Amino acid sequence: MKYCINHPDRKAEYICHGCGKTYCELCLTEGEDYYYCNEPACQKLLQAVLQSEILPSEIICPNCKSNLQLEDDERISKKVHCPACGSLIDFNIDPPIVKNRKEYTQVFSSLNQGDIGIVKSILDDGDIDYYVLGENFLSVDPLIQPAKFFILNEQIDEAKELLKDFEFKIFGASAKQNDLEET
Ligand SMILES: [Zn+2]
Ligand SMILES: [Zn+2]
Ligand SMILES: [Zn+2]
Repeated sequence: MKYCINHPDRKAEYICHGCGKTYCELCLTEGEDYYYCNEPACQKLLQAVLQSEILPSEIICPNCKSNLQLEDDERISKKVHCPACGSLIDFNIDPPIVKNRKEYTQVFSSLNQGDIGIVKSILDDGDIDYYVLGENFLSVDPLIQPAKFFILNEQIDEAKELLKDFEFKIFGASAKQNDLEET
């Protein structure tokens, strides 16, 4: 049997979602989906979750009801791509907006972390609706696959205009240049 870290005589019933340590019920605060301990870092996480600043690590796809495990960047951006039904769910708005991936077109891809950061900040500043696929692979192995930027079809022209000064840098070393010209 496991015992609470704070109370060696009490049975540990729950796991803190923040730090993964086991506690008794006296030591935990109940969040929407999980329990959190009183460590400052875990309380901060709880507050962020309660204020919907970030998404929980697991959500149900509002479109197909699949159980989705979220990456940290999805939790923070609140834009979640559901691999089961192909929806893109935007949780920045309540209730969340479900969009079909067909409404988005891949406009470019990049292996360069610096370019990816610049492009994201330009698109964010320009209020462009986009999402990035494969970005998480970069941290694991930069050569596995490039991060692919998908932009809402209606905003593609706008996005291209915003990014025209960066085109050369982004597309110079990549065969994806054609994607931009064709679409
Ligand atoms: Zn904790
Ligand atoms: Zn305890
Ligand atoms: Zn889904």
